[in-house]
Amino acid sequence: MMNTEAIVKELSFESKAVHAGAGKKDQYGSHATPIYQTSTFVFNNVDEGAKAFAHEEGGASHIYSRLGNPTVEHLERAIRELETFGLADAEEYTGMAFGSGMAAITTGIIALAKEKHVIAQDALYGCTSQFLKEETFQLGMSASFIDMTDLFLLEVELKKHPNKALVYLESIANPTMKVSDIQAISDLAHEYGVLVMVDNTFATPYHLQPLKLGADVVVHSTTKYMGGHGTIIGGAMVTRKEIITDNDVFIFRKNLGGISSPMDAWITLNGVKTLALRMEKHSANAMKVAEFLETHPAVDIVWYPGLTSHPQHHLADSMMEKGFGGVLAFELRGGFEAGKSLMNNVKLCTLAVSLGTVDTLIQHPASMTHSVVDEQLRCGAGITDGLVRLAVGIESADDIIADLEQALEN
Ligand SMILES: *Cc1c(COP(=O)(O)O)cnc(C)c1O
Repeated sequence: MMNTEAIVKELSFESKAVHAGAGKKDQYGSHATPIYQTSTFVFNNVDEGAKAFAHEEGGASHIYSRLGNPTVEHLERAIRELETFGLADAEEYTGMAFGSGMAAITTGIIALAKEKHVIAQDALYGCTSQFLKEETFQLGMSASFIDMTDLFLLEVELKKHPNKALVYLESIANPTMKVSDIQAISDLAHEYGVLVMVDNTFATPYHLQPLKLGADVVVHSTTKYMGGHGTIIGGAMVTRKEIITDNDVFIFRKNLGGISSPMDAWITLNGVKTLALRMEKHSANAMKVAEFLETHPAVDIVWYPGLTSHPQHHLADSMMEKGFGGVLAFELRGGFEAGKSLMNNVKLCTLAVSLGTVDTLIQHPASMTHSVVDEQLRCGAGITDGLVRLAVGIESADDIIADLEQALEN
């Protein structure tokens, strides 16, 4: 399925993650990337400033940190290198860092779908879904929502909006960890002159590279696995340079103002260096925890693409060679009360939303994140009363399982 001719042999992903984005040494030969904690940059003379604004040769390399910053650019090169890992035309792509995952997503959609229609996956990250449902209309766009595992539905939508749409999906989607066929979706969308944007936050490029499967734009909440330690809020986008120029993506980021801060970029960069190591452990642990939960009498269903019982296991297996990520969801037979009781009895697992931190996070959408959502709507979206989401950390799998076991007994 992958375009093997376009894949060239180079450093392994693991090595690349450690060294990604490294530029030239600074004036002191600093081993670690310096944090250029500055708002603005000094011009040596008027000419240098004028040329910088006109993007001419001989101009200053930087102007103002909302436009670009050396520390932020290091992270942008790193993420671009990982998302385009193994692609022969990797140099044709650019990375852009943002102040949050939502800044990357909204800036990307506003730039790429202006005056167009967004064909979106039905189950999406909450804020993305709210933006598409409630705000795109006010901005002159429209949106519709479909099950992306059904290519027939996609084609019906594409036929209604040829050359006038953007397809938007998540590589692994909440709450049932649904996996879609990115290659088939991209091929179909391209037949209708439509670009495909994929939120690759859950899978990360360690497990899955949407660009290699034909997608045009990848976005991330780097808050999660890229940062890896739950210490920043950040986002990223990787796409072809030509898409950025044709759609003024850089200008939209500049004017909407969503670039990453130098400090957050630097913290994220340290996370990226250990991405491969962490993802390997996150997914090995998640697989063990999923297998344990699947045999537990208090658990009805476990949603994890690594399990053969998962509806898209076969597809996930063909797209992801090194595991299936660290997030899983499961349904408790005891419903709402069982969910609350589990939350109150875990000791090692931390009761918190988010994911991608080194420690295991657990949450019960029905009593927490989605408690304000109408029950019928909530259940319609697959967020049932007994659904629990677990973002498995890199502790010992045995300890995580023992904690869940004692808490489930209560
Ligand atoms: C967290 C998350 C986002 C939003 O990212 P922020 O960094 O919180 O703005 C978007 N998509 C997915 C899949 C996420 O998990």
